[in-house]
Amino acid sequence: MAKYGIVVDITRCNGCYNCFLACRDEFCGNDYPPYSLAQPNTGHFWMRIIERERGKFPKVKVAYTPLLCMQCENAPCISASLNGAVYRRPDGIVIIDPEKAVGQKQIVDSCPYRVIYWNEQKNIPQKCTFCAHLLDAGWKEPRCVEVCPAGALNFGDLEDPNSQVSQMIASNKTEVIHPEYELNEKVCYIGLPKRFIAGTVVFGDKDECAENVDVTLTGDGVKKRTIKTNNYGDFEFEGLEAEKEYSVKIEYPGYASQEFIAQTKIDVYLGEIILT
Ligand code: SF4
Ligand code: SF4
Repeated sequence: MAKYGIVVDITRCNGCYNCFLACRDEFCGNDYPPYSLAQPNTGHFWMRIIERERGKFPKVKVAYTPLLCMQCENAPCISASLNGAVYRRPDGIVIIDPEKAVGQKQIVDSCPYRVIYWNEQKNIPQKCTFCAHLLDAGWKEPRCVEVCPAGALNFGDLEDPNSQVSQMIASNKTEVIHPEYELNEKVCYIGLPKRFIAGTVVFGDKDECAENVDVTLTGDGVKKRTIKTNNYGDFEFEGLEAEKEYSVKIEYPGYASQEFIAQTKIDVYLGEIILT
């Protein structure tokens, strides 16, 4: 039996909201017993895109993080439910039974990821089902995954070493959003936004972008890394840990070296660095 999961590649997500809209299209106004009743037209985000602005002008980026039910192996929503109202299918999908869960508002509060929504009208908690009704009908993936134009959402069998998701996990550093919850989540991420240190190097004597300048990063717990500035004189170290101190050294033959200390409480843009 397959064990389903999703690998979200944040580096590919462009925030188009197709996944969110496909979820709405699939579930609003449509009941899929025994897995779900219709999603209300407003207020629910079974697939939600978290937008986070990073950096400051002129170095600004937006990180989009799709957030959905993590289909946890150690699911607090299952423990919080009465009468077996929340259960895990043999394929790993966690389902809220819309009949048994009537009135059980405590299920909403049990999810530390806050991905369960209360349906006031029907008096039930609701969330993403990985489109279990479609998988049962022979679909290979949920609607959100099918419509993602960027390859940011990848669905498959985590137990099959040849599946795309298993191969992505084997060849990339994947993480869950909250490892400290210890829920054994079946949705994991590539490229979760962390911190960056960036800057722009200029040759002072020529007033030109400084291309091919060596920029070396060192700091607590990081392997020393040297990169080169691009043809705009820009450099960027991505995926750095938050709340750390790093040193950035700028070197180019014929110019004085410069060194900066950067603390990653926030993303850091060192500004224009003039070589003299
Ligand atoms: S993410 Fe929340 S709703 Fe989904 S299985 Fe885990 S605890 Fe339950
Ligand atoms: S459809 Fe894909 S690219 Fe668009 S917001 Fe969703 S995950 Fe990101």
